[in-house]
Formats: sequence, structure tokens, C-alpha cells
Amino acid sequence: MEQKTARLGTDSAGIAAAAKVLAAGGLVAFPTETVYGLGADARNDAAVAAIYAAKGRPSFNPLIVHVASQQAAEHYAEFSDTARQLAAAFWPGPLSLVLPVAGGAGLSDRVTAGLDSVALRVPAHPLGHALLKAFDGPVAAPSANISGRVSPTTPQHVLDGLDGRIGAVLMGGACDVGLESTILSVIGDQVSLLRAGGITAESIETLLGRSIGRPADPDMPQSPGQMASHYAPAALIRLNVTEPQAGEVLLGFGDQAQAVLNLSPHEDLAEAASNLFAMLRRIDLIAQEKQARIAVAPIPMHGLGLAINDRLARAAAPR
Ligand code: AMP
Ligand code: MG
Repeated sequence: MEQKTARLGTDSAGIAAAAKVLAAGGLVAFPTETVYGLGADARNDAAVAAIYAAKGRPSFNPLIVHVASQQAAEHYAEFSDTARQLAAAFWPGPLSLVLPVAGGAGLSDRVTAGLDSVALRVPAHPLGHALLKAFDGPVAAPSANISGRVSPTTPQHVLDGLDGRIGAVLMGGACDVGLESTILSVIGDQVSLLRAGGITAESIETLLGRSIGRPADPDMPQSPGQMASHYAPAALIRLNVTEPQAGEVLLGFGDQAQAVLNLSPHEDLAEAASNLFAMLRRIDLIAQEKQARIAVAPIPMHGLGLAINDRLARAAAPR
């Protein structure tokens, strides 16, 4: 349904207006430290359905519920000691915990896609946090983009895809982590990585003092919605390229003279993560203009490189 999308400022009036849109069952795009989220009241079936409609998202894909504090999160899920240890170490921050739903949680079935677990996160971004506090309820929020496309890390990216389809955008700046949250399933003391993201697997293993289950074969999704093709630019992509061919524009990493854009000339993975989605959008436009393909330099497979390679593999997957 076509609607006027309000551009809201980041002062207290803007935050209050955004909370009001949520309370009325509307959709608000808001900044978190990972990417811009498209939020709706997680208790309101119609509001949650509107997220799926605005994004064109397949309905079997459950949503992450965002809350202002761990105390609020305990209302919606059963926390084991291990879950509390992870929350204490990494919240607020880019970690989502998939936990058993608490009795009487009151979340829409559309949020959990009918599962008996729920994914919860306490984001660290000051504006996202202020909105969650002002709204004072659970906010279901996937990334604020058309399903399957590159995730948004600026308000302009949000508007490029969703202007006229959502109630409002909180016009904050660029997101610093730039990759979605790490998703962990925690059942008692059993921890497994469902999606690599902004918190590294290494830092989780250091905290727990043991190794955790790593993602299974990407062709065998453990977590609904982890389908292969995602984050897809319009141009085709080839990965792990050191020498681009004719008809390719290179997205570099490290010292690469031929790179049209460079994720991080100094091989800093945090910088590369933060640049990834914005540069994929930019290089996609360049590639389309030149009728070229996108080539991407090799990214090391440690730390944030795990999440960067995961997103690149999906961006390059057959569509
Ligand atoms: P997005 O919000 O687009 O970053 O994606 C959220 C992802 O969280 C989904 O694609 C699911 O894979 C995962 N997720 C959310 N809720 C659950 C759950 N209850 N169990 C397993 N995975 C979940
Ligand atoms: Mg997404």
C-alpha cells in the first residue's frame, strides 16, 4: 500500500514520533549498529504482517525481536545460565540469541514463524536504543530492504528500497558494524552458531572457554531463512579474485592497484565489514553502467572475515 514515508529527525521529538508510529501498528526503519532495521510491534499480528508485505519477505522466515535491555528480554524467552553469560558479555551489541519462547510471551506467531524458539537482541546504537526505550515493547525487525537485496547501512539505502512502503525512517547516520548480528542458538549449555555476524565466533569461544558448533553446509539451512541467494546486487559476482578479467570491476581488499573500490586497503576486517554493503551497492551501479560483472578480492576466513565471506557467498549464489 502506497503511503507517505515520514523522515524523522534524531532529536527527542523524532524518537517520540517514531515510537508513536510503532504503537499505532506502523513500520519504522531505525538505525542499529549492524544495519538499519524495519521495526514493528512484535505483539501485533497485522503490524508484523506488514513487515513481510513491505519487504516482499517469504513468510516462513522468522524475525529477530529487539528490546531495550536483558531484563526486558527475559519476558519473552527462557534464559539458561549460558544464555545469561552470553547476554552479560555481549549485550547491548550485535548478538542475537535464539532461545525457547517464554510462556505467555504474547508475541505474534508471525514473529516466530510458528517455532517454539525466538531470536532476541539488545542493540547498542544510541538511537535504536532510545526508540526501544520510548516504545517500551518488543520490536520485530529484519533489515530494512527489499527481501534478497543488499542490506541498508544508511537512511538513503532504506529509502531507495522502501520509500512509500513504510510509515517512517529515523534519519540517523551510517551504521558502524555494517554486518548483521551473529545468531546463536542456545539450548541449555549447548551453543551453536546459526549465522556469522558482528560478534566473532572466536570471541564467543574465548568467553565460553570451549568451541561452538559452526554453521552447517549452507545448502542445508538449520535456521529458516538462511537461503543461499541473498544480498544480491543486480550485476553478477565472482569471488576470491586476485586478477580481474576484462569486463569485471574489482572490489578490493588490501593493496590492489586495480580495485575500483577497496573494502580496506590496510586489510582491516572491521573496516571492510563496515564498508561491505555500501560498497556493494556502489560497485553494482558502476558495473551496471559498464555492463560489467563484479569481482571481489579474497577476504581472510577469520574474525569478521567469516561473516563477510558468508554475505559474499550469498551475494554470488545462483539466483
Ligand atoms: P534478518 O532479520 O533478515 O537479519 O534475519 C533474521 C534471521 O534470524 C532469520 O533469517 C532466521 O534465520 C533467524 N532466526 C530468527 N528467529 C529464529 C528462530 N526462532 N530460530 C532460528 N533462527 C531464527
Ligand atoms: Mg536481511
